[in-house]
Amino acid sequence: MDNHNVSHEKQDAASFQPTKWDMCALCQKNTKEKLQCPANARQTNQGSTYVTLAKNLTKFGECGALSPGILTRLDDGDGVEETFMKKKASFHMSCRLKYNTTKLKRKLAQIRDLIKLDKLWSLLN
Ligand SMILES: [Zn+2]
Repeated sequence: MDNHNVSHEKQDAASFQPTKWDMCALCQKNTKEKLQCPANARQTNQGSTYVTLAKNLTKFGECGALSPGILTRLDDGDGVEETFMKKKASFHMSCRLKYNTTKLKRKLAQIRDLIKLDKLWSLLN
């Protein structure tokens, strides 16, 4: 008898955890994977990683493909991109790749197909 369908997790304000910026900003987990900090990269375009990631995260959020609260957690009021730069956010490479432009395009294509299906469906009804 397995009757544990009811989730005990509560996604309310009480369980809201502020971002720990010394950890991976995306997963907030301590793993063996090395953290990468774009702010410490010796490149002239160090901000571009943050810009792209913030933009993609926002889009993923609009698609409903992010866990609720993550964008709120990553935005201290000036926008995700600004917050990343201010806090010198670090990420696991694997976490960052989950939100890259290729993955975003795939997600958007899925949604586009769903909308098409939805329109077809409404024609039948
Ligand atoms: Zn991570």
